[in-house]
Order: sequence, then C-alpha cells, then structure tokens
Amino acid sequence: MAFENLTDRLQSAMKKLRKKGKISEADVKEMMREIRLALLEADVNLQVVKEFTKNVRERAVGSEVLDSLSPAQQIVKIVNEELTKTLGSEAVGLNKAPKIPTVIMMVGLQGAGKTTFAGKLANHLIKNEDARPMMIAGDVYRPAAIDQLKVLGQQLSVPVFDMGTDTDPVEIVRQGMQQAHEKKNDYVLIDTAGRLHVDETLMQELQNIKDVAQPNEILLVVDAMTGQDAVNVAESFNEQLGISGVVITKLDGDTRGGAALSIRSVTGAPIKFTGTGEKLSDLEVFHPDRMSSRILGMGDMLTLIEKAQQDYDEQKAEEMAEKMRENTFDFNDFIDQMDQLSGMGSMEDIMKMIPGMNQMPGIENMQIDPKDIERKKAMVYSMTPAEREDPDLLNPSRRRRIAAGSGNSTIEVNRMIKQFKESRKMMQQMSKGNMDNIPGMEQM
Ligand code: GDP
Repeated sequence: MAFENLTDRLQSAMKKLRKKGKISEADVKEMMREIRLALLEADVNLQVVKEFTKNVRERAVGSEVLDSLSPAQQIVKIVNEELTKTLGSEAVGLNKAPKIPTVIMMVGLQGAGKTTFAGKLANHLIKNEDARPMMIAGDVYRPAAIDQLKVLGQQLSVPVFDMGTDTDPVEIVRQGMQQAHEKKNDYVLIDTAGRLHVDETLMQELQNIKDVAQPNEILLVVDAMTGQDAVNVAESFNEQLGISGVVITKLDGDTRGGAALSIRSVTGAPIKFTGTGEKLSDLEVFHPDRMSSRILGMGDMLTLIEKAQQDYDEQKAEEMAEKMRENTFDFNDFIDQMDQLSGMGSMEDIMKMIPGMNQMPGIENMQIDPKDIERKKAMVYSMTPAEREDPDLLNPSRRRRIAAGSGNSTIEVNRMIKQFKESRKMMQQMSKGNMDNIPGMEQM
C-alpha cells in the first residue's frame, strides 16, 4: 500500500513530542525538520513541502498551542488539518450536465489506467446512481484498448460504441454521442488514446474530441507509481487542454505517494477518484480528510464501512446474522463468509483503515490467500450435506475421508475445522455485542 514509509516517518516525528510534558519552539522546529524530510523522501513536490511546513509551523508555535494542556495532540490536529488542505480540503463530486447525458472524457498517458478506470467508473455509477452509461472506444492506436473496453462493457452490461481502429477518433466520438442521445443514456464515458509522452498531435486530437463532445468533465488519469512525473504530466495536460479533475491509479502499489500529495496544489484540479487495484470494484471516491488521516496512520473507518457495504451482499449478511442468533452457523455459511471476505481485498489493507491498527505487530502477514480459501472450500465440498450442517459428526474416520477426498492431509482438515469453530465462536460473541474476547480488539 502507498504511503507506508511516510506514515511511519510522520508518526515517529510526532511521537517524540507526545513523550514531552512541555513543548518548546525548538521542539516544533525539530519535528518540522523531520516532517519536511519525510515528505521530500516520499517524493512530494518541493514547493508543496515548503508551503505545508510553513503553514504548520506558523500555527504550531502560536501560544494557544504550546501553552495548552495537550500541545502534542494539538499539533497532530494541525498537521492533519494542513495535510487535508494540501489534498484539497473537501471531496469534489462529478460535474453533472443539466440535461442528460453527462459527458466524461478520460485522458492521460498510455498505461496510466484510463480504460480500466472507464470500466470502474461505469460500475460505480451503476451501483450508486442506478445509471445507464455508455462507453465510447476512442483509443484507436492501441488495438487491445477497444477489446479491453468491450470486455469491461460485457461484464457490466454496458454498451460500448466502437468503429474499430481505422476511423478518426473524432468521428467515432461524434457518432457515439449521437447514439447516446438517441438511446437516452445518462452518462457517456469516452476512452481516449494515450502516448508514452505528452505530444502535440495527441493534444490536438484531444482538443478536437473535446470540441465535438463538449464534456462536462475531463478527468486526467495518472499513475501514482510515476511520482513527480505524474505531476509534470498533470501540469501539461491542464495547460494545454484544461482538466476538471484527476484520478490517481495504482495507489495499491508500493508507491511513495508524493504525486497524490502534490497534484492538487500544483494543478489546482481536484483529485476525484483513486484506483486501488485491477478489479472493477477497486475504486474509491477521494476524500481529502479521510486520506489525510490514513496517511497519518489514524485509520479511515468511513471508507472501510462504505467498502464493506458495497462489497458485502446485504441479504447474505442478514441471513448470517440470523444464523448467529439462532446458533446454526454451519460449514455452508463458513464458505459464504470466506467468499465475501476474499471479495474485499487484502486483510492488511482492510485492517489499516481501522484507527490504531496500522501499528499492530504482524499486520503485514495478515493476507487472505485465495489458494487457501480454495483449499478450504474443497474440504467442505468433500463433506456430506449432513456433515456440513452438523460439524459434531466429524469423527476421525470421517476426517480422514474428507482429507483423501479433497487431496489434503488430515492435519489440514483438522486445522480447518478448528478455524471454523473459532470463527463460529467469535461470531456468536460479536452477535451478542461482546467484543472483549476478539483477538486484537483490546488494543483499540
Ligand atoms: P490505459 O493505457 O491508460 O488505458 O491503461 P489500462 O487501463 O490498460 O491500464 C494499464 C495497466 O494498469 C493494466 O494492466 C491495468 O490492469 C493496470 N491498472 C489500472 N488501474 C490500476 C490500479 O488502480 N491498480 C493496479 N494495481 N493496477 C491498475
């Protein structure tokens, strides 16, 4: 996950203050030096670092902070507020057209993640607004781009307008727009071509598409892994084409995160979404305050809750709760539970959104391994229906049979059954509102 190093460094800079009873101006200065280095190391733009540290220092040395009862906490609060400001203060939603369709054009360099984002955005609009989007395949230079968009369209049951690779993209967009008007689609998402670098021909083509499509939104898609380059690209696109928002992709990668922290200040364009993986659901609406608290290691409960709501099948969750209340949680439910968990992404990323959890020892090893889930499912599928419903039937000879049937050892079967029983016990406790005995909870 991005920002890992930065979070550690910022936390350690601020932790030193917490240990002191009284904080002096010199202490603040020392902390600011460490914060400045941490930001520079995270590849944050120099100008942005200067502005940020100046603002924090000015506020932090004010007498109402240093003389307060909890100066260290006040300073953490100031750092959080200034970081939020650097990231854009408020979440900025999509610009909507007064009359349908709202037209959104994706632009950016090749490989930034435009096509993938077009699919993610369509998915997001369908899920959250019950929208009926159409996508236009305007990237005629990378032949695979059209197929990629069509595959995404099929997965989402979203129409994709394309005219192959031999037609001028401006003409494709003109005809696509016409069709969207006829079919009364409420959103038109236009995928455009990228290049390896910003060049004149590309900009001219995008300008022509812009003239024809009159988009409500030009979203620049940038790859967080490219660091300061992403910021330079954003500046050129903004100067030459004018962008209304930025999408930062690949924040799930091991990026230092400087681009995400700099782009708003440098371009003035708000970050609207972030990409956090290759799957269609790996998209987050960008909230500066939540991102700031995540960067500072203070967790992000709101995003976690939204993610759980989106990924979790509500009816299944309700059934599961009912079963817990009635104490009939069985192996069939165990499988459902594992499937739902594996849909939510890595356990490490989930846990880090919980305040205080990023410092829990061993968190980096908490991975949901899809192969492990498949293995456990194979064991459950090797049980008879009666065994699945009544785990007490599983005597040693039945366990041996299940091991042989699923291609595992008896030790592994025993381990899985033990895990099932622990999971059942934990869920019963949670359903009774007793969180005390759940591992890890005592630290919160
Ligand atoms: P385009 O050339 O701008 O259309 O880029 P693509 O949409 O084809 O994306 C390039 C590569 O980046 C593909 O392999 C995508 O799966 C991958 N990708 C896109 N967004 C993300 C993201 O948020 N996280 C990760 N890990 N990979 C991404």
